[in-house]
Amino acid sequence: MKPFEFHRAINSDDVFKHISTTSKYIAGGTNLLDLMKKHIHEPNTIIDLNSALSNTIEQKNDGIFLGAMTTNTKVTENTIVNKNFPLVSKAILAGASPQIRNMATTSGNLLQRTRCPYFYDTNIPCNKRKSNSGCGALNGHQRMAGIVGTSQNCVAVHPSDFCVALAALDAEVFITKTDSTTEKIPFKDFHRLPENNPEKDNNLSDNAIITGVFIPNNNFGNTVSYVKIRERDSYAFALVSVAAALEIKDDKIKKVRLASGGVAHKPWRWFEAEKFLKNKKASRDNFIKAAELIVSKTKPLPNNTFKVTLLKGAVETALMQCLTNTSNG
Ligand SMILES: Cc1cc2nc3c(=O)[nH]c(=O)nc-3n(C[C@H](O)[C@H](O)[C@H](O)COP(=O)(O)OP(=O)(O)OC[C@H]3O[C@@H](n4cnc5c(N)ncnc54)[C@H](O)[C@@H]3O)c2cc1C
Ligand code: SF4
Repeated sequence: MKPFEFHRAINSDDVFKHISTTSKYIAGGTNLLDLMKKHIHEPNTIIDLNSALSNTIEQKNDGIFLGAMTTNTKVTENTIVNKNFPLVSKAILAGASPQIRNMATTSGNLLQRTRCPYFYDTNIPCNKRKSNSGCGALNGHQRMAGIVGTSQNCVAVHPSDFCVALAALDAEVFITKTDSTTEKIPFKDFHRLPENNPEKDNNLSDNAIITGVFIPNNNFGNTVSYVKIRERDSYAFALVSVAAALEIKDDKIKKVRLASGGVAHKPWRWFEAEKFLKNKKASRDNFIKAAELIVSKTKPLPNNTFKVTLLKGAVETALMQCLTNTSNG
């Protein structure tokens, strides 16, 4: 690893005072340090955000605010999160390991880089690592690659589980820019598709910091589910995952959210399937039709067509589990 200066910032002004073209922020460090060890990121200065940004969880009238530095474990142990937003805990607990979740933060999880094996192998071309160098995955190993929204320049997926739940729950990302102005980005617009510049994972402006994530209240209760299919039962990223949430009234689906991980460069919302299910009966037949609609929109690569079958089953299972969870909750 290349030697670097370390600065522990005390507030956002102090953060911005220390930025340069070769600095990087650190939160839990569970992704950044791996990238530095592999010489993918080689910052001259590391700015530690832990004392500069909030690590608290605040209940608001209209939802809940997770400070950027709240650890993934803290979020899963919070009583309000577990009572009002159980989908969030389910998704986080499906990821990584307890040790990693103890360190990993809310903002770090959103900004973690892809797990495409070629991105981590500096001997192989990768447009995400180095613009216009080529894409090793296009004719290579595609097991972890996308099946929707890919481009000729990059077929990588966003690796997070947490973000799939946040996409499903219409969260918002709170940001402070280097000129001290603030903005909120709807979660669905925060991450981006690879298109012609896959080196950019998201729409965060240069050196801006995430200060937290807001999740609005909802009426889904326990009628939620997170299904993750992976190579082994723990410590593995999703091949495909599905977050599902249903609000059922008078035997009809009043509101529905469906999102997936492991399928696209961003956490992916299945808006058409949500529209299809709205006002329909919460039945297995309708869930199967929604899953068929979803997979009809996918465009797998030659070596990952199996993901389409996994996804169809995961959607059906997640929707059925919503019904079981509600009766158990
Ligand atoms: C073995 C292993 C298995 C894993 N399995 C899973 C899994 O199954 N599911 C899953 O979802 N995740 C998984 N992870 C990923 C893990 O959840 C992420 O590494 C973690 O969430 C990143 O958070 P962090 O705080 O450690 O980020 P860091 O590594 O500190 O930072 C990541 C990036 O975010 C930037 N950053 C952090 N905070 C801010 C901020 N506030 N503003 C601006 N930039 C910021 C940093 O500069 C850096 O570029 C796994 C990780 C490992 C190592
Ligand atoms: S899929 Fe994306 S991350 Fe993977 S090698 Fe191609 S450009 Fe790089």
